[in-house]
Amino acid sequence: MAEQQLIGALEAGGTKMVCATGYADGTVLEREQIATTTPQETVEAVNAWFADKDIAALGIGAFGPTAVNPASSQYGKILETPKTAWRYFDLLGTIQNELNIPCGYDTDVNVACLGEVTFGCAQGLTDVIYLTIGTGVGAGVMCAGRLLHGMLHPEAGHMLVRTRPTEEGRCVCPSHASCLEGLASGPAIAARWGKPAAELADNDEVWALEGDYLGQMCANLVLMYSPRRIVLGGGVMHQEQLYGIVRKKTLEYLGGYIQTAELKDMESYICAPGCGGDQGILGAAELARRALA
Ligand code: ADP
Ligand code: ZN
Repeated sequence: MAEQQLIGALEAGGTKMVCATGYADGTVLEREQIATTTPQETVEAVNAWFADKDIAALGIGAFGPTAVNPASSQYGKILETPKTAWRYFDLLGTIQNELNIPCGYDTDVNVACLGEVTFGCAQGLTDVIYLTIGTGVGAGVMCAGRLLHGMLHPEAGHMLVRTRPTEEGRCVCPSHASCLEGLASGPAIAARWGKPAAELADNDEVWALEGDYLGQMCANLVLMYSPRRIVLGGGVMHQEQLYGIVRKKTLEYLGGYIQTAELKDMESYICAPGCGGDQGILGAAELARRALA
């Protein structure tokens, strides 16, 4: 029975690869972290770890941009990443050719969204957005039960946001003058305030500004995708005071224009991940289950 078969999950991130084995019910059996270095060295270590695990299928959540449409000639390749050594590296192909098992493949954030929908705080919902506010800002989008790809995949972390005059020149994104990732990611916070975000917990000004940007983001996402829930994860969201600020700012930016039952219960509507950090691995396990089915 497919449910009993051991499956593999890979969270392929820009700084580390998390490999795990488990079952389709979300049980994690073993896990291992491998540092992301050169593509060849990294993937060799990943393949070696999975090689003797006897998994029936593997789900992969990859850092982007990457080609996630199976019909694309680039499917499974990393695309124009700032990590130049990884550009056009055939991540999926290099793994699948070695392990010779069915593999599911999507972006890390789409996979985390799937993890929350399958095992976390968005169970039973078909329209959900998962965001990571960490080293970068990324968005996984599920619409009508399907992870959204479109021509590439959403890159909502780079949405343009409105800034204040004091924010002139603060955006650390090499591509944009005032995008969310460039102004609200962990590195953007550290660059603006002169120390790591984790050391700024007591500075209310930091989180008022951060909450304002994330509120703009959520309001824009509500207007564009009409999600039934927005899940905010990633290292920066360890500052739990942010959730309340973001909820309030989101409503402020929406200006009363949208009235739904969901928006009357903001604690549920904008929430923390329910998988406690395992949303990526659990989503990848669900991808693996689907690759088998
Ligand atoms: P990644 O995005 O690389 O996968 P994380 O989601 O852990 O990893 O995000 C890392 C970022 O989160 C770093 O920029 C770090 O400064 C920030 N961060 C980590 N812990 C905290 C914390 N407790 N408070 C605020 N920011 C944090
Ligand atoms: Zn940008």
